[in-house]
Amino acid sequence: MPTKKYIIANWKMNLSLAQTISLAKEFKKEFAGFSRGEIAVCPSALFLTEAAAIFKGSAIKLGAQNASWENKGAYTGEISADMLSDVGCRYVILGHSERRKYLFENYEMIHKKVRAVLEIENLTPIVCIGESIEEKKSDRRDFVLVDQLQQALSGIDVFGEQEIIVAYEPIWAIGTGMAIEPAEAEYAHKIIKLALNDMFGMQVNNKNFRIIYGGSINAQNVKGFTNLENMDGLLVGGASLKAEEFYKIAQTITK
Ligand code: PEP
Repeated sequence: MPTKKYIIANWKMNLSLAQTISLAKEFKKEFAGFSRGEIAVCPSALFLTEAAAIFKGSAIKLGAQNASWENKGAYTGEISADMLSDVGCRYVILGHSERRKYLFENYEMIHKKVRAVLEIENLTPIVCIGESIEEKKSDRRDFVLVDQLQQALSGIDVFGEQEIIVAYEPIWAIGTGMAIEPAEAEYAHKIIKLALNDMFGMQVNNKNFRIIYGGSINAQNVKGFTNLENMDGLLVGGASLKAEEFYKIAQTITK
């Protein structure tokens, strides 16, 4: 069973160039010598090159917040997985609920993006799934999670050491300060684990898939998320904008 935890910072569209450089430097300082887990930072695509230069020589990996499903051509405004890899990305968040909400991304698109990312060596997709508050209230969460997984990943071939990270992010928990109850996260991760077993078999699932949680994690509530079954790490938004707090989160979850 995997023991390495993944702690991913999603800086979204929050920082200017100067702020990105300054926070990246703080992260590098804060995480110097940290080897207990995999740390990745996803800044704005526009500033990936600057962040890459700062993280060089550190253990902090670079991630992007989105990728095109096309690899090249007349797709104005898009950025291909190949280009992300070119500037040093190791991870790409795909299908974040904010993109599903504001840009009408759907799982057909997300499926194509996963395929495009998996074409690129050493690039790992972080595939976001999660129920809305209405789906939660009407007791449809389990169905929704399995359906999203199937739409995003069915028919995808997973080879060798390829990694796919599934981020369970209940939409109602993102940026609201209302993290899920840890026991509920554990239950949802179990549902995801079983669905992935069905789709890919237990061996591939255990070897190639990881399941992380995202939604209002902070330095206080993270304690409840340690030692949960099938909890391979965290995707952190708001609390990743402070280096010290993000470091505390990483320290706690990797204990
Ligand atoms: C996110 O946007 O992926 C996220 C988890 O945000 P927050 O931590 O702010 O809820």
